Amino acid sequence: MDDSACYQLHLAPYQHRFRTPLRTARGGWYTRQGLLVKLTARSGASGWGEIAPLPAFGSETLAQAQHFCAQLGRTVSAAQIVAIPDTLPACQFGFESAEADLHGAIASPDPPQSSIAKLLPAGAAALTAWEPAWQQGHRSFKWKVGVLPWVDEWALLRELTAALPPAARLRLDANASLELTAAEQWLQKTAELTAVEFLEQPLPPTELAALLTLSQRYPTPLALDESVATLTQLADCYQRGWRGIVVIKPAIAGSPRRLRQFCRQHSLDAVFSSVFETKVGRRAAIALAAELANPQRALGFGVETCDVPPGSC
Ligand code: MG
Repeated sequence: MDDSACYQLHLAPYQHRFRTPLRTARGGWYTRQGLLVKLTARSGASGWGEIAPLPAFGSETLAQAQHFCAQLGRTVSAAQIVAIPDTLPACQFGFESAEADLHGAIASPDPPQSSIAKLLPAGAAALTAWEPAWQQGHRSFKWKVGVLPWVDEWALLRELTAALPPAARLRLDANASLELTAAEQWLQKTAELTAVEFLEQPLPPTELAALLTLSQRYPTPLALDESVATLTQLADCYQRGWRGIVVIKPAIAGSPRRLRQFCRQHSLDAVFSSVFETKVGRRAAIALAAELANPQRALGFGVETCDVPPGSC
């Protein structure tokens, strides 16, 4: 990219209410808010990016992103984009991907459903939700755990895994909600279930040492998600010895350029995943996944895609 380039900046805030609120161990999530970024070069070429913060995972808040954008005014230079601080990872993603889009550098891959993991609703609703998704071609599924009492959830999981066809793979996501003894219970019990691909983030990010120990003690693989939400955290966990699966959410990981460098330097078992962004962010995130994700693992983009504001792309 030409560091001296300067772009006209146009922002389009959006707010999208989920058709079905997301239930996780953290509670309910009802509305996705973010900012679409349009950059226009002197040549007239333009590109779109998306700022979709997820502060619960350590990104900036929407207000912080708005404050940053407001102080830029009506233009932004390539040098300013490179200099966006690591405290604003969703802004780094939004501006860099808009610039890449302007230069025609974002491919538009359209992955088949068979390579996209479908998020099932929490609780008993999963028992009826998997089959239509299977008919659409999905072969990997994800189910939130830590939402109901253990005995109820374990009974549902047994029922779900018994119903799934043998080729199905199931990811369990605890969203950092479990105590150590509960995490051990899940790992002991899921060792019997061949459909389980991995257990995602059973313990909070502060418990990396315990997560490392658990990853060596049980056959069910563990994946880190909240622990590696930003590139800074991902590099830290890698440096502290984590070599297991990592869930990368490009929209909040930070600079795509530096994420690419890191993934190419280190051989990561990476699953790429959505933060319920709109089609604008999703396209840039899936393009990165096509380059950097472990092709043996389904992409975590089987979620409701937010509508894009009219006229924005
Ligand atoms: Mg997760």
